[in-house]
Amino acid sequence: MHWRFWIGAALVWGPVLSGLLPAAQPAWKAGAARLKITPQEPLWMAGFASRDRPAEGQLHDLWVKILALESADGHRGVVITSDLCGISKATYESVCKELKTRCGLDRSQIKFTYSHTHSGPALRECLQDYYAWDDAARDRVAQYTLALEKAIVEKIASALGNMSDATIWATEGTADFAVNRRNNDESQIDKLLAGGEPLKGPVDHRVPLLAVRGSDGRLRAVVFGYACHTSMLALYEWSGDYAGFAQLALEEKHPDLQAMFYQACGGDQGAMPRRTVELTRKNGLTLAAAVERALAQPMRPVAPRLKTAFDLVTLPFEKTITAELLRASSNIGPHYQRWAQRMLERLDAGETFPSSYPYAVQVWQLGADQLWISIGGEPVVDYSLKFAELFGRTTWTNGFSHDLTAYIPSRRVWDEGGYEGGYLGEYGLPAMRWAGDVEDRITAGVQRLVDRVRE
Ligand SMILES: [Zn+2]
Repeated sequence: MHWRFWIGAALVWGPVLSGLLPAAQPAWKAGAARLKITPQEPLWMAGFASRDRPAEGQLHDLWVKILALESADGHRGVVITSDLCGISKATYESVCKELKTRCGLDRSQIKFTYSHTHSGPALRECLQDYYAWDDAARDRVAQYTLALEKAIVEKIASALGNMSDATIWATEGTADFAVNRRNNDESQIDKLLAGGEPLKGPVDHRVPLLAVRGSDGRLRAVVFGYACHTSMLALYEWSGDYAGFAQLALEEKHPDLQAMFYQACGGDQGAMPRRTVELTRKNGLTLAAAVERALAQPMRPVAPRLKTAFDLVTLPFEKTITAELLRASSNIGPHYQRWAQRMLERLDAGETFPSSYPYAVQVWQLGADQLWISIGGEPVVDYSLKFAELFGRTTWTNGFSHDLTAYIPSRRVWDEGGYEGGYLGEYGLPAMRWAGDVEDRITAGVQRLVDRVRE
């Protein structure tokens, strides 16, 4: 095994001081754990098709962080945040299968998220056609990924085994650096901002925040989200992008704290200007300051109740790819050539491509009314805005969970077309666009799960 993961000790949250809690109010149980995943050998980085060689250093370490929760009636859930660009369906299925066997968790109980950092490791079968790998590079990525999958399961088991009494609190902060990247020209941003001109397009500047305190009242974990691509940096150095800097700043200030970031519905959201470490750190510190401000305000106590629901929603493709279409689309760029060649080989081998995709949708309800929706892939911001309108202002929605799937456009973005409106082939799917009812199908799927957890 080439890849060694530094297995940090699971945080044990001190003696259980049950006397501090009113006897009539049963508490949550919670446990945190973290896994350092910075690759120790040269490995390709994820997220940009333009990189042509493995990473050459690091800005800071990469982490997978886990928060295990158990409600008063014994129902458990695990939140996984990670400095990863995304995971394939193969990785997602493998982790879920192991967690079922090892820990008895079903998929409704596993909230597997990734920050979408474009400065993390490439993983097996995820955006694989982006990269001009030779066999050795592909093999190293596969070995790293398989070891990572095992280590994540171990670490979750350890977090579940180290839970102690806790209280949970919810609130929302705000940070305003995310920009709708479809509606604003990056080269014009500085001029627009300097001139005080409003930027165009929908954004979601909320910073949803879940805080976990030990029975001694001390802050042990914060899980916070933001809708903005972690693609500020396109260097050859490992980092969690602005989200990595935000988590580092929070953990430096609070040494006992595990700070956990997830990507909200940032499919069409980006930070501009970008591309320098200074700007990336600055946005990270802005986000950390938003978390600190939110923590300093009164928060909503979350009663120790957890309901979890999961479903696979069928998302039809507009048109399943054919050999003829594959030959035409290989002109788009080198990664489309690799995709077309791989898909043609599969067709030649007698495979029939499906006409739809089983899309993962999950809803949690914490306490009496805190909804936390997780959908797969890279949803545009319209989804979190819509679900807050449909289900209540404090509803949280994150994308970038389960498998990386593809861009997930709203009907508006699907109609407009462009990058986030299609390009499914980049993700290895046998199609270029979703059918036009993609938003309606996801909304209906989420609505069914919300009804279930609210029953
Ligand atoms: Zn993306």
